[in-house]
Amino acid sequence: MTIQTHILGYPRIGAKRELKFAEEAYWKGESTQAEFLSKAQAIEASNWQAQVDAGLSLLTVGDFVFYDSILTHAVRLGIIPPRFDEAAKLNPVDQQFYLARGRAPACTDVAALEMTKWFDTNYHYLVPEFTVNQTFTADFSDLFAQIDRAKAFNTPLKVVVPGLLTFLYLSRIVDDQQKIKETHVCGCGSEHKDIAADKATLQFVDALIPVYAQLFDELKARGVEHVQIDEPILVLDLASEWQAAFERVYNLLQRRDGLKLIVTTYFETLGTNLNLAVNLPVAGLHIDITREKVGEFFWKKVIDQLPTHKILSLGLINGRSVWASDLPALNEVVETAKKALGDRLWLSTGCSLLHVPVDLNSEQVPAAIEGKLAFARQKLDELVALATGNIYANEKLNKTAQSAFELVGQSRPEPFAVRFKVQQEKFKLPLIPTTTIGSFPQTQEIRAARAAWNKGNLSNADYEAAMKKEIAYAIEQQEQLDLDVLVHGEAERTDMVEYFAGLLDGFWLSKFGWVQSYGSRCVRPPIIVGDITRPNAMTVKWIEYANSLTNKIVKGMLTGPVTILNWSFPPAHRTRREVCLQLAEAIRLEVADLQNAGIEIIQIDEAAFREGLPLRKADQAAYWDWAVKSFKHCSSSANVGTQIHTHMCYSDFKDCLPQITEMDADVITIETSRSGLQLLEMFHQQGYPNAIGPGVYDIHSPRTPSADNMRTVINGALQTIPAERLWVNPDCGLKTRNWEETRAALKQLVDMAKQVREELAA
Ligand code: GLN
Ligand code: ZN
Repeated sequence: MTIQTHILGYPRIGAKRELKFAEEAYWKGESTQAEFLSKAQAIEASNWQAQVDAGLSLLTVGDFVFYDSILTHAVRLGIIPPRFDEAAKLNPVDQQFYLARGRAPACTDVAALEMTKWFDTNYHYLVPEFTVNQTFTADFSDLFAQIDRAKAFNTPLKVVVPGLLTFLYLSRIVDDQQKIKETHVCGCGSEHKDIAADKATLQFVDALIPVYAQLFDELKARGVEHVQIDEPILVLDLASEWQAAFERVYNLLQRRDGLKLIVTTYFETLGTNLNLAVNLPVAGLHIDITREKVGEFFWKKVIDQLPTHKILSLGLINGRSVWASDLPALNEVVETAKKALGDRLWLSTGCSLLHVPVDLNSEQVPAAIEGKLAFARQKLDELVALATGNIYANEKLNKTAQSAFELVGQSRPEPFAVRFKVQQEKFKLPLIPTTTIGSFPQTQEIRAARAAWNKGNLSNADYEAAMKKEIAYAIEQQEQLDLDVLVHGEAERTDMVEYFAGLLDGFWLSKFGWVQSYGSRCVRPPIIVGDITRPNAMTVKWIEYANSLTNKIVKGMLTGPVTILNWSFPPAHRTRREVCLQLAEAIRLEVADLQNAGIEIIQIDEAAFREGLPLRKADQAAYWDWAVKSFKHCSSSANVGTQIHTHMCYSDFKDCLPQITEMDADVITIETSRSGLQLLEMFHQQGYPNAIGPGVYDIHSPRTPSADNMRTVINGALQTIPAERLWVNPDCGLKTRNWEETRAALKQLVDMAKQVREELAA
C-alpha cells in the first residue's frame, strides 16, 4: 500500500528571492513582461522539480502566483473595483499589480486594495472589494496554462483553488466612491489588521456557484483528478450563517463526476466545525494536526467521524516551523491512521510551506543547531520519509527543550497616578509635548555604511563613527525643529527585531531564510534557538551618545518582548509564554542599564503586540495574560521617575483595550491618522487612565500634512483626553521618508502644537 503525499503549497519567492527581484525590475520598467514571466516560470518549474525530486506522489499546481493567491483569484473572477476602470486595457498580470499597488503602466495612480494579515501568520493577503451589485466573470486561462506546463513533470496533479466561502469571508463590499484611503502599510512594513467576516458577502454565494462549477468542469476536462479547495475559515469560531452556507455550497457543488474535491483546512483544529467539515459532500478533507495541544488527539476524532469513503489528508509536517520533525513520533501517528484509513490516508504539511524559508542548503548552520532545522525543501523529504516508512531517528533533535530559567514576571510597584505626579514635576514638559516614534530617515549613507561594514570593508570603529554622525545629525535637526522629547533616530538598526536578535544570545540569524510578507516584500525572521540571555547592553552606547549632545530629554528606544517573539521563529517544544518572559527579562535589564546611564524616558515598542493572538476566542485569554505580563516585566526595572512609553501601530483595539490598559505604560503612542478619532473615543469610553500620543499625521503620505489636518486630530483628542495627558507625535515609520519631507512635516507639527498650547493657556 502506498500512501499519497502532497503539500498544500510551496514558497513562491524562490531560494534567493528571485521573484522579488524580477517583479521589482518589471515594475520599474527595467525588464519586459516576457522577461518577468520567464523568470517567474523558472521558479514555478523549480518548485515542481523539488516536489518530483523528493518523490511526492502529487504535484501541487495553482499555489504559484505573482503577488497573492486571493488577489489572483479575484482578478480571475473579474472583481475589479470601479476606481481601477483603466485596468480594462491591461492584461491580467498587470491588472493584478495594478490592484495590489495602485499603479500600472499608463494608468492613473489610485488607492491600492487593502491588505490584511492572513489568519495568525505574518503573511498578508489583499482584500477583494466587491461592489453592492458585484457580478462575476471567469477567466482561468492562466491557471490552465499552468496546468499544461505542470503536465511536463509526468506526475499526477492536484490543483489548488481558494474555497468559495473562505474567499467571500475574506472579501469586503466597499463603497468605491468613498475609498480614498491608501493601503496602510505600517512603518514596520506590516499591516496589522485582522480578518473580520463581513456577512454581507454571503449574498454572493449563488452568483459564484456556477462560476466554481464551470471551473471544476474545465479542470476535469483537462484531466485533473484532485482539487485542493482551501477553506481555512473552517478552523475559526464560525457564526451559524457561515456554517449553514458550507452545507449549502458544497451540496450544490457536489457530483462533478470524477473530480475529487479535498476541502482543506489549516492553522487550527476544526474545533466545533468538526461535524460540519467531515460531513460535507466532497471526496476528502485535509486537517492540520501540528497546532493541536499536547494530548488533544483531535485527529483521532476526525478519523472516527469521517465517513468511510473519504480521503483524509493528515497535515503532520509543521508548515510554520523551521525545525525538523520528530519522524519516529510522527510515524506512530501514521501507523494508527493507516490502520483506520488504509489507502484513504494521505500525508501532507499542516499548511502551505509559504510560511517557511525555501532551502537550508545554502546556509551556514552553527554547530549547536546543525541537523535540527528543516526549511521547505527539507520538509518535502520528511514527508516522503514518513510515507515510505523510511524513517530515521534524528539524534540531534531535542524532543523536549529545557529552559535554563523560568520567570514569573514582575511589575512596577507605584501606580500610574503616583508616577505621573513625580514625572510631571521632574520633566516640566510643556502641555501636549511633541515627540516622534523613534526612527529617522534611513539614508543612502546609512545603508552604504552598513553594507560596507557587513562585507568587512568598514572597520567597527569607522562604522560606529558613521552611525554617530547620523545620530548627531538627527539630534541637531530635532533641536532646530524644537521638538520636546528627542530620539536618537535608530540609524544603527536595519530592523526593530533583527537588531535585538543579533545582540541577544539564543537567536540565530540565517542568511537566506526569507519568507514572503506581501507582494515582493520578504522578511527574514530571526530563529530562536535556545534560552534568551543578554550578554551585553544593546542600545546604551547609542542613546547615551545622543543624550550627550543635547540638553533636551532623549528617549531610549527598545523593542518589546512580544513583538520580538511574534516576528521570530519560535523554538521547537517550548511555550511562547516561557520564551516571551525570557525576552522580557533581557529587555528589563536593558531598561535598567539605560536608566543608570541617565536616560529618563524609555519607549518599549510593541508593534506586534496583538499579532500572536490565537484564532479561537477560547485560547485568547491565556495569550493576553503572558503578553501583558511580559511587557510589565520589562518596565519593572524603571524607577518611579522613569517614564515608560510604548507604541502600537494599529487601530484595531476594540477587543484588547483592557489589556492595553493593563500594560500600564506611562504613555502610549498609537496610529490615529487613518483610524480617525473613533479610536480615541474608544480609549475615553473605556476610561483609559494613562497618557496618550495619537499619531497626528500619516507619514506614508508623501504630501506634507497640513497643519489643519493635524489640528483636527488634536482638537478631537482634546475632547476626550485632558491636555495634561496628551502628547503630539506623527504615526510611526519616519525611517521610510527622506529628511526633507520629515523636516517639513515635523515643522508643521511643532508649530501646530505651540499654537494649541497658547490657546490652552489663554
Ligand atoms: N521605533 C520604531 C520606529 O519608529 C517603531 C516602528 C514600528 O512601530 N513599527 O521605526
Ligand atoms: Zn508602528
